[in-house]
Amino acid sequence: MPEHAQQPADLLIAARWVVPVEPHGAVLQDHAVVITGGRIIAVLPATEATRRYRAAQTIERQRHVVLPGLINTHTHAAMTLFRGLADDLPLDRWLSEHIWPAESRRAGPEFVRDGTRLAILEMLRGGTTCFNDMYYFPDVVADLAVEHHIRAVVGMIVIEQPTPWAKTTEEYFVKGLAVHDQYRGHPLVRTAFAPHAPYTVSNATLRHLRLLADELDVPVHMHVHETASEVEQSLRDHGQRPLARLDAEGLVSPLLAAVHMTEISAAEIALLAERGASVVHCPESNLKLASGFCPVSRLRAAGVNTALGTDGAASNNDLDMFSEMRTAAVLGKAVARDACAVPAEEALAMATLNGARALGLGEEIGSIVPGKYADLICVDLDRPASQPVYHVISQLVYSVCRDQVRDAWVAGQPVLADGRTPHMDEADILARAEAWRRRLADGDV
Ligand SMILES: [Zn+2]
Repeated sequence: MPEHAQQPADLLIAARWVVPVEPHGAVLQDHAVVITGGRIIAVLPATEATRRYRAAQTIERQRHVVLPGLINTHTHAAMTLFRGLADDLPLDRWLSEHIWPAESRRAGPEFVRDGTRLAILEMLRGGTTCFNDMYYFPDVVADLAVEHHIRAVVGMIVIEQPTPWAKTTEEYFVKGLAVHDQYRGHPLVRTAFAPHAPYTVSNATLRHLRLLADELDVPVHMHVHETASEVEQSLRDHGQRPLARLDAEGLVSPLLAAVHMTEISAAEIALLAERGASVVHCPESNLKLASGFCPVSRLRAAGVNTALGTDGAASNNDLDMFSEMRTAAVLGKAVARDACAVPAEEALAMATLNGARALGLGEEIGSIVPGKYADLICVDLDRPASQPVYHVISQLVYSVCRDQVRDAWVAGQPVLADGRTPHMDEADILARAEAWRRRLADGDV
């Protein structure tokens, strides 16, 4: 084709390998991803790409793999500032004796701003380009996502206890819906309802929330069946298991992203599959808090969309989706007592496309397919711990560390460029984290 017939493009990224996630398990050698207007327009052999497209910018990565940006489907981003504050405790004592008291005094807009910025820096450096957040001051989280050009689904949190964000149930709804209205149609920010958990939200509120979620067509992001004691308490208080309570209110639907689900019967797996609800697995948080084990391979066998999240950095203690993939894969085998369970390709899908689907973004992100947003990362495999490379996806799940992520793009814009974060003042973010540590460690909470 003569040069004048080349199509223009904004960006062409050529790499030794491209792992598109769709088709499942595919690895493309010496391919390129072509981007225009923030979206992927072609995925094709690199030699053909340079013949067909005249890109304003070309990036070549000869030792690298390009894959979709990872999607952290359950975070409390600002809790990075509580990282290491209270460890080695069970969930109920950790929450009631440490986290909730600290939050009630400290979790104002400044805390959320500084903590979320630290989280965004950690996530972008580690290859996460989208996060699904549940925390107070979602307006602040949304503003920061736009400022630092990361994709976010911000939670319209509802928890029926007073917090610095809202004092009454009505105030939670009013403030959450204001954020929804402000960001309606935004290319980077979406909203979801985020009722904290069945044990902190009443039936009447669940009913109200379900009506609104259906009307606005937004996901419902909720902790469900995190521990056995949550289920036992629900049986005592309501005469029902939490999932049955949610189902009675019409909440078990394709809009539901049920986080944790460590306690789950065969009938409940069938219900989730029938209703088209998603589960968000947070293996490292579940392990650290000794919450239980989500039966990932049984969910998968039943056809339940299962995504992956880190949970907050106070219970993990990081926002590292590479280690989360590895833990999901190895724990899934142990729980199933089957080394074939949760293979690497499945763990990668959980951290990408399944997360997108759980958030209602399955047509927008999560795989490298023409028409989707160019939310991409580039991982350097030319490291001792990643050589030799027989199976690229196995390497990504079982041996890659997040510091091997060299580049990241969100909607085609660079957010990590050869190890540097162009939109972030790292020194300032770290200094603010240290200032919060001094305040919190001095017992001033
Ligand atoms: Zn959580």
